[in-house]
Amino acid sequence: MGFCETALTDIPFHRPWIGAVEQQRVSQALLGRLSGDGPFCRRVESRLAEQLGVPRVLLTTSCTHAMELALLALGIGPGDEVVCPSFTFVSTANAVLRVGARPVFADIDALTLGLSPEDTERRIGPRTRAVIPVHYAGLAADMDGLSALARGKRVRIIEDAAHGLAGSWRGRPLGTLGDAGCFSFHETKNITCGEGGALAVRDPELGKKAEIIREKGTNRSAFFRGEVDKYTWVAEGSSYILADPLAALLDAQLDRLEEIQTRRRSIYERYLEGLSGWAASQGMHLPRARPEHGPSFHIFYVLYPDESRRDHAIAALKSSRIQASFHYVPLHLSPHGRAFATNAALPVTESVAARLVRLPLHPQLSDADVERVIEAVRCTSSS
Ligand SMILES: *Cc1c(COP(=O)(O)O)cnc(C)c1O
Repeated sequence: MGFCETALTDIPFHRPWIGAVEQQRVSQALLGRLSGDGPFCRRVESRLAEQLGVPRVLLTTSCTHAMELALLALGIGPGDEVVCPSFTFVSTANAVLRVGARPVFADIDALTLGLSPEDTERRIGPRTRAVIPVHYAGLAADMDGLSALARGKRVRIIEDAAHGLAGSWRGRPLGTLGDAGCFSFHETKNITCGEGGALAVRDPELGKKAEIIREKGTNRSAFFRGEVDKYTWVAEGSSYILADPLAALLDAQLDRLEEIQTRRRSIYERYLEGLSGWAASQGMHLPRARPEHGPSFHIFYVLYPDESRRDHAIAALKSSRIQASFHYVPLHLSPHGRAFATNAALPVTESVAARLVRLPLHPQLSDADVERVIEAVRCTSSS
């Protein structure tokens, strides 16, 4: 019997790696300050700032909120337009709508699956204030092209680096290549605290503005540092701060980051090795990193030649008890997206969204699981 028939256990698409270290760290936090801006929050912010090489990182309740915070701190709002992909999670566009600006969708590049600089340029107009590239799967969008464009047109770059922690472009960490970088620690990401995010900024002044907006428009953070003797309402703001016990969980996950990344990398590379020959002979495409790319190994995908073969593959993998999954429904085709997107077609976005399958990728997959996935994927086109 082949692998497709002998599968005994389910192979989950994703499973967070939580153990004794996380339990201990959270228990410790529960005895201290529970609200935000506590000792764990500050410790994780400085660890991330050091790892990313930026002056300031602010932990937030989510990546969605980190993007809202970035837009607010940059003064982007009603009357402004922000160019972003349609091939992304809803948060990228929601953050723009929440601050009262208008998302304008641009197409992606067929190789990186990130914003195409050429199509982005076509979408930039007199009202455009920012571009939000998504580093899909942890492979950077073409940041040379996008940065040159942004400089020339005087627009800001806010990176949606929800997939990007530990990834790089020309050796520079994803999330540090534009004006602001937004990370996610949702359960499905490489490291997690359940729900959480971070905003990384290169300009300390922007960090100060964001710190006030994050704390309900008050200077409470400066008060905690002893810089002012009482705190008060100094600007319009909201509540985007992460509670300290969740920061403690993140602290423990950061201890594990290297181990997690090493394991994800070896699975990713084994998938490439095990599937490249098959993909080339069957007309499938696998992620193709350019020399500039340092992947974060967040997603491993297979692009089938058409939608029906993709759907067949997901069903076949399911019957082998392997959870594989399609990804984004293009936002411009969604019920809410249609309400404001006036775009002509986004052909690469539509084609990729219809043909993509994500394979299980997480550190708790065994070597045997990985071989089972490879065999089963090969079966999806030879059967
Ligand atoms: C997960 C994700 C988000 C949202 O992250 P949250 O922390 O859940 O708000 C945003 N953008 C992309 C590309 C994502 O994958």
